[in-house]
Amino acid sequence: MTLLMDPTLTSTELGAALTRALDGQFAEQRASARESFPVDNLLRAPGMSLDEARDWVLNRLTELSDAGFGASGMKTSADGEADPAAALVAFEMLAHGDLSVNIKSGVQFGLFGGAVTNLGTAWHHDTFLADITSLKLLGCYAMTELGHGSDVSGIETTITYVAETDEYEVHSETESATKAYIGNAARDGRMAVVYGQLLVRGKNHGVHAILVPIRDENGRDLPGVTSGDQGWKGGLLGVDNGTLRFARVRVPRRMLLDRYGGVDASGVYTSPIENPNRRFFTMLGTLVRGRVCIAASGAIAARRGLSIATRYALSRRQFTAPQHPDGVVLLDYLTHQRRLLPGIARAYALGFAQNELSAKLVQIQGGGDFTERDQRELETRAAGLKAVATRFANDTLQTCREACGGAGFMSANQLVGLRADADIYATFEGDNTVLLQLVAKALLTDYKQLWEGLDRIGAAQATARIIGEGVLERTAANRLIERLVATASRRPEEVALVDRGWHAYLFEERERHALASLARRMRTASRRGFDAVSELGDHMLFVARAHLERVMLEAFIAGIDACSDPEAKAVLERLCSLFALTSIAEDRAWFLEHNRISTGRAKAIGAQVNALCHELRPEALSLVEGFGIPQSWLGAELLT
Ligand SMILES: Cc1cc2nc3c(=O)[nH]c(=O)nc-3n(C[C@H](O)[C@H](O)[C@H](O)COP(=O)(O)OP(=O)(O)OC[C@H]3O[C@@H](n4cnc5c(N)ncnc54)[C@H](O)[C@@H]3O)c2cc1C
Repeated sequence: MTLLMDPTLTSTELGAALTRALDGQFAEQRASARESFPVDNLLRAPGMSLDEARDWVLNRLTELSDAGFGASGMKTSADGEADPAAALVAFEMLAHGDLSVNIKSGVQFGLFGGAVTNLGTAWHHDTFLADITSLKLLGCYAMTELGHGSDVSGIETTITYVAETDEYEVHSETESATKAYIGNAARDGRMAVVYGQLLVRGKNHGVHAILVPIRDENGRDLPGVTSGDQGWKGGLLGVDNGTLRFARVRVPRRMLLDRYGGVDASGVYTSPIENPNRRFFTMLGTLVRGRVCIAASGAIAARRGLSIATRYALSRRQFTAPQHPDGVVLLDYLTHQRRLLPGIARAYALGFAQNELSAKLVQIQGGGDFTERDQRELETRAAGLKAVATRFANDTLQTCREACGGAGFMSANQLVGLRADADIYATFEGDNTVLLQLVAKALLTDYKQLWEGLDRIGAAQATARIIGEGVLERTAANRLIERLVATASRRPEEVALVDRGWHAYLFEERERHALASLARRMRTASRRGFDAVSELGDHMLFVARAHLERVMLEAFIAGIDACSDPEAKAVLERLCSLFALTSIAEDRAWFLEHNRISTGRAKAIGAQVNALCHELRPEALSLVEGFGIPQSWLGAELLT
């Protein structure tokens, strides 16, 4: 097969300016990470056996750790300093290579190391963190069980305090208590953070986590531990996922990660958080970084797919036409533009929203001031963006594969491998549907608090205004967006289709109306029981999505506002319109049913999306260059 590559497809100034804009507040760190990132051994060759793949991944992770891209930003002792921004940027860089390496690093440093750091105390830090960060001690994060996945609070493993010997006994009474799908459990892990119900003198204090050695130096199961290898999976073959079962395994009392509760020297359970429910959610909340990282990794996988498919679409020709005697370049077909350019627009929207999310995480975990509300908002947004980004990755990688035709199906062109690896992102670190339900519940809680406040002061007239300002708490660029919306909302039908205020107004209306009606329906449903609440499932998902679409749009607007390069800014404006109109078009039925747009306007949106695709077509290369992924990193043979 001969490919007609256009020799002018090299790095453009516009591409560089777009990268700076998209890197946002992390521009400097990301730029220097790109320069020092070791790329010689970036991608794993397809066709390795399971063992070869696992060996390759472990070696590569070691190589990257030595180059400063492993435990970067983690503290290594009780007095050490953590640098969450460095940790996030390092993880993002790994998402540009083999995703098994990325996920294995997440298991080792983010989950295993993260649990020791966040749930442990000084002794755990001083005893284990240095070995975890140097990869001397490989470990697992054993939360999920065969019987309980999404429903973590129901896990069956028990951690029972044994007063006579001052130890804990870790036990899986039933088959369904077996820990399942656990990364590093099949082969490499030597220790595990095991989650279980903490029982002290017959009382259950809820889910806690404890460190349990699982294998000896030669890789043999320790007495009482039974590990299993879950073998071949749909992707991520380089990660050794497996099962763990415990038969009354004893560990010393100090192995409990007891920052939020444990048994003291006199054998009494104490916790700084009285309420068991609050304690459980506080413990899980400290591990929010995992979701932030998976959202980033999923979005980067999608960017890689879009880069491959777009670059290919700029060189591949099919069919001749009167003005195209040498054949039409794929990206000159409007259908092809409509397949790729809205995805690129959405990738930018997600990128800007991810920057805000990462900045919030850095503020909260990097020693800045924050309130409980900030923490809750971080958790809600991390859950939501993880769900949206990984759904996007799955959909986009399939679209990109198809956009490259048969070539897209060849492993050497990376798309099928990427698609297989990113598939499970929709499930681990929280199943996407369950996460979106969490988002809707959090929004309802805010709504309820305001509602109750209003009942008390009886200011019914103020309802709309306060709900508008309170529940739809804006992201960045508050004043700018308020101004845009205020102007547009006065005459929504007359403003141009690319008016940003009109977009922001419609996005707000979608969320506000859907949330208000959900709150009303939920009030009655909750009195009628499970089935009535369950019937609101779709409505909850719609609210969560509407909320996240608005978060992304507002982040996009803030990103454009912060961009100082006029040419990049103009391109981003068009891209933002494409993102906004595509989102409105997808919910066209809702906007029509709720009289937010006329039928004439609904039809005009389709034509405007086409027009924007035409306008953005000449900038397609710069747009994917803006993702900050050099062509050579993509490793796709079809681009050589
Ligand atoms: C490759 C891989 C690696 C993993 N690594 C780890 C690891 O290292 N450590 C670890 O602890 N776990 C790990 N997991 C487990 C992962 O976190 C769980 O698979 C995930 O939490 C979902 O749980 P589940 O598989 O039991 O699915 P379930 O919870 O049974 O969900 C099945 C389906 O039911 C739906 N569903 C569930 N509850 C509801 C509800 N309330 N309303 C509506 N729909 C619902 C879900 O949307 C989903 O589609 C890994 C999994 C895989 C596949």
